[in-house]
Amino acid sequence: MSYKAIYTYAWDLAETGVKAAADEFRGLGLDTVTMAGSYHAGKFMRPHGRAGKVLFPEDGTVYFNADPSRYGAIKPVANSMLSERDMLGELVEQSGMAVNVWLVLLHNTRLGMANTQSVVRNAFGDPYYYNLCPSAPEARAYAIGLARDVTESYPVSGLSMESPGFAPYAHGFHHEFALMKSNPWLENMLGLCFCDHCVSGAEKAGIDARRFKAEVAGDIEAYLDSDIDYPADMAEAFWRADVATNADLRRYLDFRNGVVTSLVAEIRAAVRKDATVAVIPSVARPTAGAWYEGSDLYALAATTGIVEACFYEPSAERIRADLFDIRRRLKGTGTLRGILRPSHPDISNRAEFIAAVEALREGGVEELAFYNWGHLRRANLGWIGDVLRGAQ
Ligand SMILES: [Zn+2]
Ligand SMILES: [Zn+2]
Repeated sequence: MSYKAIYTYAWDLAETGVKAAADEFRGLGLDTVTMAGSYHAGKFMRPHGRAGKVLFPEDGTVYFNADPSRYGAIKPVANSMLSERDMLGELVEQSGMAVNVWLVLLHNTRLGMANTQSVVRNAFGDPYYYNLCPSAPEARAYAIGLARDVTESYPVSGLSMESPGFAPYAHGFHHEFALMKSNPWLENMLGLCFCDHCVSGAEKAGIDARRFKAEVAGDIEAYLDSDIDYPADMAEAFWRADVATNADLRRYLDFRNGVVTSLVAEIRAAVRKDATVAVIPSVARPTAGAWYEGSDLYALAATTGIVEACFYEPSAERIRADLFDIRRRLKGTGTLRGILRPSHPDISNRAEFIAAVEALREGGVEELAFYNWGHLRRANLGWIGDVLRGAQ
């Protein structure tokens, strides 16, 4: 199956109309529309928006008609647009293109606030409302329900799922604030989840998780009580040393990989067989950093068959390096897709974008996606057409 996809939002499609949008996409050489079916909050610039230029999406809502009976205790919240229009439905009926649905799974602050028993908690027990924990049974039922629901109710070709795992500590929350410097060691320690579900799961895996949780809390406490600021490079080295020398930490990280891989496997098993399931494995750059989120790249590729990696880098050279490394990790398993942003802050000009696509193709990546129609200026959208239609 060919996958030359444009990432889109329902509000942009609604404004332009599905038929006109699809004509534009086909004109750029695209064959697939990847539309957000569940999405989080934001403050988004829409350079070619007609009704307005800045949009705040409703946090943590779905953009398809969900069937509540397909979920457990945590149920999706419908976006208010749905009372008037179902853009996913219009897309599958009217676009004449393959429609792939993009699901943000566990990053959902609205649902986290409403379901605090299922959110990530640090070593002190503080809830991180923006991340439902993949160890929490109700969070898993929600993620599985979402994937099954949308693929059973709509004839989509497949889904691309994001945030199946443990989000890193740094998130960019509203008015995030501290009167001290941060560093990678502190953030990695603060990002480890020790919710009751993780602790009991890790204990079942033979890890003394209560003792390890107390150790992490003690280490963070001692640092916060001191007047030391770790420089970033030293903090990275300290964290690396912890990972290499602390057996409990290593086993805990392995446990987290297992949690996410098994969730992804349950999702694959719940989705109709003829729908493709791709995993967007990580918010880390480069993608190799996915392990902190519990994304084992090889295991995910073996489980779903498709890894859809973000190549959000400023040059074709860096993309080549990232691709070379991801290939090594996948060991020939599964299909690797590439997502590119033909714009700031990644790619500054058309020639570099053409070189970036060429780098992916030379590395055997034929399935490409571009991020994101509503966010890109007209001139940058034009680069996609140039590269897919072969104009140089
Ligand atoms: Zn967010
Ligand atoms: Zn947890």
